Amino acid sequence: MAQSTYNARVLVLRKTKLGESDLILSLLAQDGSQIRAVAKGARKPTSQFSSRLELYSQADVLLAQGRSLDIVKEARLVAGNAALRESMELAACAAPIVELLDRITQPGLEVPKLFPLTQTALDVLASADSAHGPAICAAWLLKAFAFLGIRPSLDRCCVCGEPLACEVGSSVHRTIAFSASEGGVVCDACRVSDVAGLAPETLSWASALLGMRFSDIASIQVDQSCVFDALRLCQTWAQVHASIRLKSLNFLFSCGLF
Ligand SMILES: [Zn+2]
Repeated sequence: MAQSTYNARVLVLRKTKLGESDLILSLLAQDGSQIRAVAKGARKPTSQFSSRLELYSQADVLLAQGRSLDIVKEARLVAGNAALRESMELAACAAPIVELLDRITQPGLEVPKLFPLTQTALDVLASADSAHGPAICAAWLLKAFAFLGIRPSLDRCCVCGEPLACEVGSSVHRTIAFSASEGGVVCDACRVSDVAGLAPETLSWASALLGMRFSDIASIQVDQSCVFDALRLCQTWAQVHASIRLKSLNFLFSCGLF
């Protein structure tokens, strides 16, 4: 019986070596589901796949359905995003994006907004000044949480819904209670004793990044300390709401590149 084949536009999330020269690829499909496929001979320098299925690249592929893994038959490069592999700073900021996608997306589970969100983020990141990389990464994480149905409440108490004044420089609050397990910021009336406090500036940055376009983020003046606090918030959030601890975020925190 002939193998059934299908076409897909994909983003390469992860490459794992298989045998002498093959690769197992984790791919994000346009409907936000994950495709796992084998690219035979892809590690041979002469293979057409070696340059068309690089990490962070976007390609049109022809796949044959397999029993557990599909098989890549053809690949055509759509966007290489080479800068994300050539710059250590940009690579460090792109890695948490593909790591979360690799771990949270599943075959057959559609999350349609993830593909265009990631496509735009990687495209902007590839041509961004590296200083904007952490902010683009934090914005992608926050927006992805929203699309996955686990958006943190950043401006209203997640228990009672009371709007919280977190204006930067406000003397009302030196810190604002943030409870990842309860769903976001917590007002004084709902706060229980052991909830951590976040600087209003961090919340204000997280809130702004959640609502901003990537192309606008690439041109603003970033407060790297607040952006990194927002990234730490994302790490805690992924851990509490998706049981995922992103190794690539830990690398970003300790690499000393920013
Ligand atoms: Zn409250």
